[in-house]
Parts: sequence; structure tokens; C-alpha cells
Amino acid sequence: MRILLPPDRQMKQARLHCCWQLKHLLRGYEHIVKQRLQQSAELVSFILELKTVLEVCLKNRPEYRSIPPPQYYSQLISEMETLGWDKLLSIDTEFRTVKLKVEDSSGRQHVLTIKLKSKHPAEAPECSADLPIPLALTWTPQSTLEQLHTQFLLVLESLTEFWDVVDEIDSKTWILEPEKPSRSDTMRRIAIGNNVSIKVEVDPRHPKMLPECCLLGAEHVVTPLRNKLNANMHLWNPDSNVLHNLRDVLEIDFPSPATHEKSSFSVECGICYAYRLEAAIPDQVCNDPRCGQPFHQLCLYEWLRALPSSRQSFNIVFGECPYCSKPITVKMAAQKS
Ligand SMILES: [Zn+2]
Ligand SMILES: [Zn+2]
Repeated sequence: MRILLPPDRQMKQARLHCCWQLKHLLRGYEHIVKQRLQQSAELVSFILELKTVLEVCLKNRPEYRSIPPPQYYSQLISEMETLGWDKLLSIDTEFRTVKLKVEDSSGRQHVLTIKLKSKHPAEAPECSADLPIPLALTWTPQSTLEQLHTQFLLVLESLTEFWDVVDEIDSKTWILEPEKPSRSDTMRRIAIGNNVSIKVEVDPRHPKMLPECCLLGAEHVVTPLRNKLNANMHLWNPDSNVLHNLRDVLEIDFPSPATHEKSSFSVECGICYAYRLEAAIPDQVCNDPRCGQPFHQLCLYEWLRALPSSRQSFNIVFGECPYCSKPITVKMAAQKS
């Protein structure tokens, strides 16, 4: 690699020449390198930035990644033999990502994904799993996959109560969101009635405590429920089951798959006539008790904004319900990231 500086030594005019190998490696990153070269204050800072760019390039190109020494493979095989091959769910063709299947004491199946480093076991592997809390497993150069497995089981045990709570909610109520809850989901939007639901956020570390609750629906239905929630909060019994507590505090019975069809709660949006708009479900409701039409927030926002009779103040649009012409407001839809 050669960097040519103009006589005034200004980086803006500098030119970079490199060998074909380096050129090949930097393919796709040329514009970044050029921009960094011209905007660096001095040569040293550019070299440091180039180093970072090269590290990113190497990381993103598997063919340049270092191939582990033979001991890596023998070590991996001996560790798997100690752990038991029956625990192996899958391994990639490079023998770098190991997926283990783990069953907790309640019979729930989990997957522990372990990304091994070339310097395994000297360097700690990266572990991940579908959990509601961050996964932190300890690793020393003497650690083995079996020890990871044991630690992971302990983490699973600490979450059994949380999964008991959410599994019960999932089986005995109609969940509107998420569509297919995963083991890491702590939020549930539970149907209460037509266009009325409650969003609860269960704390994975204290699953039996009163969860954070948010009632969604038309004002005339939500207000009495909210008043009950506030008045009965003190009745919450952390030793009792969460669903029972929710029923007692709200003084309602949740519609369940045993008593109701889900279709009675998944009412389509009055503007796009669909239930799901990407991940969103209709969560805006006309407050007029005789109307109660649900809409997607985005649909209602776009609809009202397009009408000359609507008026906007900060991020709220005031207009008329497309169904009954009664006043309706909607907040500006959150920008998708
Ligand atoms: Zn819609
Ligand atoms: Zn209406």
C-alpha cells in the first residue's frame, strides 16, 4: 500500500494505491476508504481508521477468516463426547456454530446457540438463546461445553415461574399480540371484549407481581376498567396466579379459547379492511359508543391528514370518524426504524 501526499501535505488531495490483494479485500468499501482518507486530519488517524475498516471487511468475509488449528476440532469432539451427542441439535459446515437442545425441568424445549472462536477454549464463545433476560454465562479457558450446558439449565430454572405465568395466559385467553409469542416475549395483549384489550408486561424476574398494564379501546369501556384497576390494585396477591389476580382486579372474565372464537376480537380496520397491517393490529377505536369502529393507527392518521376538515396540533390530528362522523383524534404514527 502506498499513500501519495501532495507537496502541501493536505490529506484532501492524498491518493491511495494498494496491491491487488488489498484492493480485492476492500471491494465494496472503496467509498468509505476514500471518504476517510480525504477527511482525516492527519495520516496517523487515517491509518487507524483503515485498520478498523479492514477488520470489518475480514469479519464479513468468511473466506478470509482464520481457519482454526487441528486441536480446535479434536477439542470440540471430545467436549461433545463428554456432553453427549444426543444434546446436539445442529452444527454448521465450518464447525463454528453449535446448537444444543436443552430441556428444562418443566419439559420446555430450548435451544442454546454457541459460536466458538478459533482460539477455543482459550477465548470465550458467544452464547445466545431465546430468553426474556440477557444471557450471561461465565467462561474460563478451562471451561467446557458441558459446563455451559449446566449453567444454561440453571438460567432456565430461574425463569420457569415466568414461563408458567405467560404459558397460562397464552392457553387460557385470546392473545392479540404478539402473533406467535416466543420464549423471550414479556408483553401480551389480551382480548377483553370487542375492541377492548389489556396490554400486560410481565417482569421475568418477578413474574407474579402486578405487571405493568395498559388498557386499549374506546374511552367509555376503558375508563370504568381503569378505575377498577386503580381501586383494586391492593388486592393483588403475589402468591396467587396472575390470571386470577387480573380477573379479580379488573372484575371481569377473560374470553378464552374454550368460550369464544378468536375472530370475534380480530375486527378488521375500517379503512384498509385488513386485520394485520404488517405487524400492527387495529388499536385506535372510535369513542362513540354506537360506532366503536377500530382502525390501524397509520390508516387513521393518513386518512384524517388527507382531509381538509381535519386539523393538526403538534403530533395529534383532530378529525371526524370515517364511519359515524363523530370527532376522533389520532397521534402521529411512530416512525418505523
Ligand atoms: Zn388499516
Ligand atoms: Zn365512529
